[in-house]
Amino acid sequence: MSLPKIIDTHQFGRMREGAAYYIFGTRSALVESGTSLSAPYIIDALPDANLDYIFVTHVHLDHAGGAGELARRYPHASVITHPRGARHLADPTRLVESVRKATGEMFSLYGEAIPIDEGRVQPARDGERFDLGAGITIEAIYSPGHAPHHVCFFEPNRRYLFLGDAAGALRNGVLYCTTPPPSFDLEVSLYTIDKLRSLHPKKIFYTHFGSGDNPDRLLKNYSDLLKRWAEAIDTRRGQMPLAELIDDLLADTNLFPTGFDEQLRPELAMSVRGMFGYLERVAP
Ligand SMILES: [Zn+2]
Repeated sequence: MSLPKIIDTHQFGRMREGAAYYIFGTRSALVESGTSLSAPYIIDALPDANLDYIFVTHVHLDHAGGAGELARRYPHASVITHPRGARHLADPTRLVESVRKATGEMFSLYGEAIPIDEGRVQPARDGERFDLGAGITIEAIYSPGHAPHHVCFFEPNRRYLFLGDAAGALRNGVLYCTTPPPSFDLEVSLYTIDKLRSLHPKKIFYTHFGSGDNPDRLLKNYSDLLKRWAEAIDTRRGQMPLAELIDDLLADTNLFPTGFDEQLRPELAMSVRGMFGYLERVAP
């Protein structure tokens, strides 16, 4: 396996916002499906593929929303995810509802999700390995925090780690928090990052977006960033209403020394709401 092939999923109609990764030995797999609106881009990028596996790190629609479309296009593929996510792929009704609540004005950009035949959704155990042939294996690594049902995928021979949203988003070399409602958990996230560091990955691949050099430093930096993000939100909590808190926080030059692309505001606001919700749960 050389580098996995990165496919831009054109998430939210933007370039370099969402990625899927194509990996093959004698069998082939995709990590992440993008939204249902991404499926045509993925199918276009893989004209001759006959996927055996579609691995999705979690069932948020920007990671798994297109899995139903892809399962139709690639009829041999099993869809692999965490057991707690599996039932939502078979019946996405509740999932779509929860995304509608979490994403608000951005909802239409997430597309729809079509149900996947239950028999084709395969729940992965922590540490379970999937053989792609030619010395390539994909191992499921449970990685809760961003969501309780998050799972990273690891190629242990090359030490390639597909992060999903477990360790933030990397955009133009800058790390951003991915801490959405309803179930982001700081303590569990920090534990997961330590677990991911203990794998000593040689390369890490972000769904948002692309590969990162010096994985251990990036993972450590994300841990630090999460703590700063939590503290910045906690100190403002109770001082001002949530909408004002979001604006105040996003204007904080300690957190965003070089500013940020305004297009990211709704996503960042969502991450503020997720961390805020966590803090309200653990320390009301
Ligand atoms: Zn995501």
